[in-house]
Amino acid sequence: MEKQRRIFIQKAGLIAAASAFTPQILLSKTRSQKKKLGVALVGLGYYSTDLLAPALQLTNNCELRGIVTGSPEKIPVWKEKYGIPDKNVYNYKNFDTIANNPDIDVVYVVLPPSMHAEYTIRAANAGKHVWCEKPMAPSVADCEAMIKACKDNKVKLAIGYRCQHDPNIQAYMKVGKEKPFGKVRMVTSAAGYFDGRTNHWKQNKKLGGGAMGDMGVYALQGARLATGEEPISVLAQASTTRPEIYHEVEETMMFQLEFPSGVRASCQTSFGINMNHLQVNYEKGWLKMAPHSSYNGNNGSMSDGTIIKFSIANQQAKQMDEDALAIMEKTDLIVPGEEGLRDIRVVEAIYKSAAQNCVVKL
Ligand code: NAD
Repeated sequence: MEKQRRIFIQKAGLIAAASAFTPQILLSKTRSQKKKLGVALVGLGYYSTDLLAPALQLTNNCELRGIVTGSPEKIPVWKEKYGIPDKNVYNYKNFDTIANNPDIDVVYVVLPPSMHAEYTIRAANAGKHVWCEKPMAPSVADCEAMIKACKDNKVKLAIGYRCQHDPNIQAYMKVGKEKPFGKVRMVTSAAGYFDGRTNHWKQNKKLGGGAMGDMGVYALQGARLATGEEPISVLAQASTTRPEIYHEVEETMMFQLEFPSGVRASCQTSFGINMNHLQVNYEKGWLKMAPHSSYNGNNGSMSDGTIIKFSIANQQAKQMDEDALAIMEKTDLIVPGEEGLRDIRVVEAIYKSAAQNCVVKL
């Protein structure tokens, strides 16, 4: 076991080194040959304002050049803060004319989930690469239409699963692949927070709200990434302790997943409970991550004493730099649209199971 531990640390070290330095190392080659990609953020709410725009000030391979908003009062604030020229400011009506703007290479869709498909497809039809926030869309049909539009227009589609760019998450994915503790036997994962809002899109079904799509995809990703398998059946139960707020969508979803190898996962998500952890039990050991899906500080430990604790300067900057580099270098994206679709297939089955109170096969 000691030998295995050393091997893991050594290899994990390589993961960390590669993750931390690849964009910068490649940048020295890339920058002299190519300009940075120009990014336009669509939807200037919490995630764009507090996380993505600040992260775009730290990126090497892309930069914030445009905004698309339905709130005119935000325009002067963003123009002044980020030096965005008038010609790169759009609203939802004139958005399609972004096709004629060579400053913008990538459109990043950061809207409520029900709007992801429309804006991804319009961006693709305008000839722009698309980054789209999670959950990819409320339905499998939407996800498939988004993937098709990007393929038809020969543009790339990346989903904003920032955690898959985090070396701490890559480390437990690697344990699942290399199996130093044998096969996975069971996974437990949870992702939730207390949301005190009463009238936000997260509480609105038509806009794509509900804990499952929002935080539940992190619990689901934990199980999928730790096993490296896709679920073959689900059993789910939705509940709420605040029916006056959560009458259209679930406050909490508990779901069990069965995988082809026989592994089972028990997962929870909620807008009423703070939780953020993953435990994987293998034939000969275990791995725990807590937090597991945060913006920073994700870390974990293993039964043989190995610690998973890689530090990265900024998760979203790393995500966008790696996605920009993949576009520039024409290499595979870490999280393409197909990966977003894999989750939504399971999410659809989870909703069906909760509604019908039965096991749903995938
Ligand atoms: P938000 O409510 O703060 O912002 C949504 C934006 O969409 C607002 O600017 C709002 O004006 C605009 N909008 C346009 N039409 C709207 C409509 N009909 N109803 C409501 N808003 C409308 O939401 P957010 O937290 O920024 O989330 C946006 C997206 O980003 C979601 O897909 C969410 O899941 C995702 N997100 C991802 C992460 C992550 O860690 N990857 C974190 C937070 C949010």
